[in-house]
Amino acid sequence: MSVETTTEATPFVVIRAEVRAVQRVSPNFVRVTFGGAALDDFATPGAVFDLRIKLIFPPASGVLPELDGRDGWYQAWLAVDEAERGSMRTYSIRDLRVTDAGTEVDVDFVLHLAPGLTGPASSWANQASPGDELIIAGPRRGHDWGGIEYAPGDATSVLLAGDETAAPAIARVLEDAPADLRGIAFIEVPDPADALPIAAPDGVQVCWLPRGDAPHGTLLLPTVLGHLGAAPTAEVTDVETENPVWETPTFSGLGEELDTSAPHADRYFWIAGESGVVTTLRRHLVKDVGIDRAQVAFMGYWRRGVAMKG
Ligand SMILES: Cc1cc2nc3c(=O)[nH]c(=O)nc-3n(C[C@H](O)[C@H](O)[C@H](O)COP(=O)(O)OP(=O)(O)OC[C@H]3O[C@@H](n4cnc5c(N)ncnc54)[C@H](O)[C@@H]3O)c2cc1C
Repeated sequence: MSVETTTEATPFVVIRAEVRAVQRVSPNFVRVTFGGAALDDFATPGAVFDLRIKLIFPPASGVLPELDGRDGWYQAWLAVDEAERGSMRTYSIRDLRVTDAGTEVDVDFVLHLAPGLTGPASSWANQASPGDELIIAGPRRGHDWGGIEYAPGDATSVLLAGDETAAPAIARVLEDAPADLRGIAFIEVPDPADALPIAAPDGVQVCWLPRGDAPHGTLLLPTVLGHLGAAPTAEVTDVETENPVWETPTFSGLGEELDTSAPHADRYFWIAGESGVVTTLRRHLVKDVGIDRAQVAFMGYWRRGVAMKG
């Protein structure tokens, strides 16, 4: 059921999606498949890469807020009483399938369930079952609403790196990439069995880094730095701000000056995951290794000890 009441074609949709299937695909990932007629207006099939979408999870009452999907829907959502609003979080599309039977969207949720360290999204995913509903906000089919950061330009080689929260986006990027792409992907996960299949181009090596109970970044930091010839430290330099780092060739959360006219180099870097880990990698790669910031997207997907706000 669509919650839109407008006939104007906004470039985005804010829709109710129904859980069609729930699969515990590995120790720390649950794959939730969403369906429903409203999804037929959602996202353009083809290459979605790391397209981010917003999910609104129900409040304790279980009743999702009514949103009309018009311009200003986000402010309208914020104006809903906090107890009734539910919680918004950002996710990636692991798969988007359009068939004669309709549209299905898979989202791979990381289950972080330790007491005091969990949140509404992870808890919802852990209990999701067919028939449950949530609200998805994302691009309208056939429209460009932004949200894709992966932009290798003319680069023929890529380095992708991230923790388990970035694994679904990395997988999608590699499955949507041209078959002749070359490069390497480093993905740190808690458990060896979290290394889920990725149909990557033959020329891209996918290296899974199972860290066990060690802190995030323990393997990702030294492996990526060592691969690029930098001193392979595993020490995370924490960020001081509340906001996760977001430094891409076209946007600087730190307000740094950007040269968007700079041509892409032959190699493109895409790095996402826990903010402190990503900030540490950024520091070393930009300052020590000398990687041009126009070649690299650094994205904090979550921040240790901080609940996301959308
Ligand atoms: C562009 C983008 C794409 C993303 N794609 C995905 C995706 O496809 N799959 C996915 O699982 N996540 C993804 N994330 C990350 C996800 O949005 C965050 O992990 C989010 O904080 C989860 O919300 P929550 O309600 O479970 O926890 P919150 O309420 O936000 O946080 C509660 C507590 O849990 C901690 N926490 C949050 N996430 C984790 C984690 N993964 N491991 C351990 N502790 C954690 C926080 O530090 C905090 O202490 C993405 C984020 C962005 C920005």
